[in-house]
Amino acid sequence: MIAIDKIRKDFPILSRKVNGKPLVYFDNAATSQTPQQVIDVIVDYYQNYNANIHRGVHSLSQEATDAYEAAREKIRAHFNAKHKEEIIFTAGTTHGINLVANGFASLIKEGDEVLVSALEHHSNIVPWQMLCEKTGATLKVIPMTQEGELDKLAFAELFSEKTKLVFVNHVSNALGTINPIKEIIAKAKEVGAAVLLDGAQAAPHIKADVQALDVDFYVVSAHKMCGPTGVGILYGKKEGLEKLPAYQGGGEMIDQVTFEKTTYAGLPHKFEAGTPNICGGIAFGAALDYMNDIGFDAIAAYEHELLVYATQELLNIEGLRIYGTSAEKTAVISFNIEGLHPYDIGTIVDKLGVAVRTGHHCAQPIMDYYKIPGTVRASFSFYNTKEEIDVLVESVKKAKMMLS
Ligand code: PMP
Repeated sequence: MIAIDKIRKDFPILSRKVNGKPLVYFDNAATSQTPQQVIDVIVDYYQNYNANIHRGVHSLSQEATDAYEAAREKIRAHFNAKHKEEIIFTAGTTHGINLVANGFASLIKEGDEVLVSALEHHSNIVPWQMLCEKTGATLKVIPMTQEGELDKLAFAELFSEKTKLVFVNHVSNALGTINPIKEIIAKAKEVGAAVLLDGAQAAPHIKADVQALDVDFYVVSAHKMCGPTGVGILYGKKEGLEKLPAYQGGGEMIDQVTFEKTTYAGLPHKFEAGTPNICGGIAFGAALDYMNDIGFDAIAAYEHELLVYATQELLNIEGLRIYGTSAEKTAVISFNIEGLHPYDIGTIVDKLGVAVRTGHHCAQPIMDYYKIPGTVRASFSFYNTKEEIDVLVESVKKAKMMLS
C-alpha cells in the first residue's frame, strides 16, 4: 500500500500551479520530481561539507569523500552488484552507454555483429552506430510488433557466433514495454555476446538485480528516480570493465603520470576522470533510500493500478489510439487522437495544468514503424493519483473538442 497523501507532501513541486491550475505532472519518464528528503541532502552538502573528494587531507574533503563512497555502496546494494568498484559514477545513461561503446571500439572488428532493438532511445542507437562506423562491425536490429513488443520469433534468428554485443532497453521510454531481457541475456550467453541493458526507464519502477540477471552492463540516470540531473551509474561486471580501455583521460583516473607513460588507476576510478558530480552522487544515494523506504513492490503495484485506470478512461475517448499494448508494461501511455497532432493536444492540456510529453520521445524508429510523427505520452509515478488522471482525461477531451 502507498501512503499517497503523505508521499505527495514530500514533493513540494506538486502543490504549485501551472497556468493558474494545479500542476498535474505526467512527464515522469522524461524526469521525475524530487522529494524534500533529497532536496535537503543537496542543501546540506552545499551548506556544510562542499569539498573536492579523494584528494584532500582536510576534514571537509574527507566528509565529502565518505558521503560519496557511502552513496556508491548504497547503489551497489540496491542493484545487488557483487563489488563496489563495479559501480561507476557517470553523468547519466547517455554517458554510461558512450563509455561502453567507446571501449568496445578496440574489442570488436569488421565482420562482428552488434544487435540493438527497434524499441531503443536514440542514446542506445547512435553510440552503437558510431562504434560500427569506426570498426566496420554490422548493426542489426531486433524488429518490433504492432503491440510494441520485440518480435520474439525474429530475435532468436538474429543471434549467431558473429554477435558480440547486444544493447536493449529494459523498458521502452516511448511505449513502456518491459522487454524480455531474461530471454535476450540467455540467447546472448549461448553465443558468447556481452549484453548492455539500458535501465533508464526500468530503474524507477523495477528493482533490477544485476547478479541474478547475469547482465554485463546496466546503465541508469538518477533524475528518473527522484534524484538530480547530471548523475547516474554504469554497472559493469568486474571482468568486463577491466577489459574496457579507459574512456576519458584526466585527474583521478591515473596511477602514475610521466611524459613517457601514464598508468591508470584501478576500478572504479579508471572511468571517473575529473571532479565528478559529488553532490549528485550523494543525492542519488538519498533518492534510492527514499524509494526503498516506500518499497519497489508497493510502487509497482500502485503504478499498475494507475496504468489500468488511465488506459480504461482514455480509451473511452473516441478516436484515441494507444501505442504499446503489451501486457508487460510500466505506467506509460503513448497515444494519439485521430486527425489531431500530438503537439496541439500537449499545448492545450498544458494550459490546463497537465504536463505530458509530445513528439518522438527520442525514439524516431518507433514512430517510423507506426508511421506517425509522434505521440502524446503520459507517464505516471507513485506520487500521482487517479484524480489527476481524471484531470488528464477531461483535458484531453477539451483539447479534442477545441481542435476538431
Ligand atoms: N535511455 C532511455 C530509455 C531513456 O528514457 C533516456 C532518457 N529519456 C535515456 C536513455 C537517456 O538518459 P539521459 O538523458 O539521462 O542520459
